Amino acid sequence: MKPEENFKEFWKKVLAEVQLEVTPVVFGTIISRTHLEQLDDNSALVLCADEFIRKNMEKKYFAIVQEALNRIAKKDIKLVLGVKPISTTTDKKIGQDAKDLGPLFQPKDPNELLNEKINKSGLTSKYTFENYITGKNNQLATAIAKAVAEKPGEIYNPVFIYSGVGLGKTHLMQAIGNFILKNKPGMKVIYTTGESFTNEMIDAIQSGKGKGRYASNDFRNKYRKADVFLIDDIQFIAGKDATQEEFFHTFNALYLSQKQIVITSDKPPKDFTNLEERISSRFNSGIIVDMQTPDFETRIAILRARRDKDIDPINNEVINVIAENVTSNVRELEGAYLRILSYAKATGEEITPEIAMVTLGQTIKEKNKKPVNMNEILNAVCSYYSIKSSDIKGKKRTKELVLPRQVVMYLIKDLTNTPYISIGDFLGGRDHTTVMYGVDKIGQDLKDKQTIKQDIVNVKQMLFSV
Ligand code: ADP
Ligand code: MG
Repeated sequence: MKPEENFKEFWKKVLAEVQLEVTPVVFGTIISRTHLEQLDDNSALVLCADEFIRKNMEKKYFAIVQEALNRIAKKDIKLVLGVKPISTTTDKKIGQDAKDLGPLFQPKDPNELLNEKINKSGLTSKYTFENYITGKNNQLATAIAKAVAEKPGEIYNPVFIYSGVGLGKTHLMQAIGNFILKNKPGMKVIYTTGESFTNEMIDAIQSGKGKGRYASNDFRNKYRKADVFLIDDIQFIAGKDATQEEFFHTFNALYLSQKQIVITSDKPPKDFTNLEERISSRFNSGIIVDMQTPDFETRIAILRARRDKDIDPINNEVINVIAENVTSNVRELEGAYLRILSYAKATGEEITPEIAMVTLGQTIKEKNKKPVNMNEILNAVCSYYSIKSSDIKGKKRTKELVLPRQVVMYLIKDLTNTPYISIGDFLGGRDHTTVMYGVDKIGQDLKDKQTIKQDIVNVKQMLFSV
């Protein structure tokens, strides 16, 4: 690349970043009327079309451009503003500089720009209010979320939403973010999870050597610049001291400057046992709202909306069957729907309520298979073959003991997926290769020995019948 191209390319990247942080109007009337005149190792001279633009740049957009410069240069570059000498062609229209530099200044397509902003915020565009079904279970939470999206930082702050898994917390929270990005393009939205926040915090401590348990300024600034801070699954930070501390400071900084904060969690603040008191009391200062499992009608509405969006070949009767049988949460509901849909697509058959029942029946049964542990398996096998567990664990290798011992090995592997080494330890300190052999042996026998097959079925029945 020629140096001239490098230079243009560099400025293009800076502008692309800046464009994500200002409104289209600001970009069109201010930012696009500047250009990079000079760039060296330490400084960048940016010329503004006139004094008005320069003043605006200096007062309002300096930090944004400065930070974008540093990010793209990957080092500190001093931003110096100047005014372009008045040229003989006085008539400076909006975007004229843009044309000077070819395609560099062409504002992006608004949709593309919005998508970039969504990605940069950490959001996913598919979670919107439009596709969020409201029922009795989430009415209040949805109303609060919409109010906050309309007037961030002005009505309820902070907002704390809690519910069990799969009930729509992440969807609702991201809908707030997506709405704001779309309708208030100048606002900076940051979405993160308790887990990512913690991980970033750890990285920041590690890279900021010598600062003990404190995060670097980059980390701090990232979050403190937000106009809207969305933090999902906050329960993750409970009990992690340094992260809690950092979160506390981020929270306070944003709260004091009246920035919107939204938090979700799997439980209400009062149920946190290892969250610092000063943090949970902050949560209580705003509004706390919970969400319940959706009722039958709401489950149907969710499934129908889903079906209609893609015109899936699933009729209302089948939807009723799913809604009647899957009641735990929306994620499970969607999962069941998708299984039936993929069955329909794979077979090309029309799905009847009966087929749906069978498909659901299998998954419901699998889920209900209660977990068993090694001791329960050992006891069931011993009582089935009428032998003592000490004999199974012991050294004797008589025929009466070898088979049941191998059945225990096989069932433990099959039902608990315990490592071979641990199974060996459990069975009186046997070598893992012995266990592997036993598991394999029964696996082979199952293919052609009817009696073994029956034994295994019977023992399983003993284990799983209540
Ligand atoms: P949570 O964060 O509470 O565990 P999610 O927001 O991840 O739950 O929701 C699980 C799935 O269910 C997502 O695909 C989400 O889009 C969907 N979902 C949840 N609630 C609703 C709702 N009220 N309307 C439509 N889809 C929903
Ligand atoms: Mg979630």
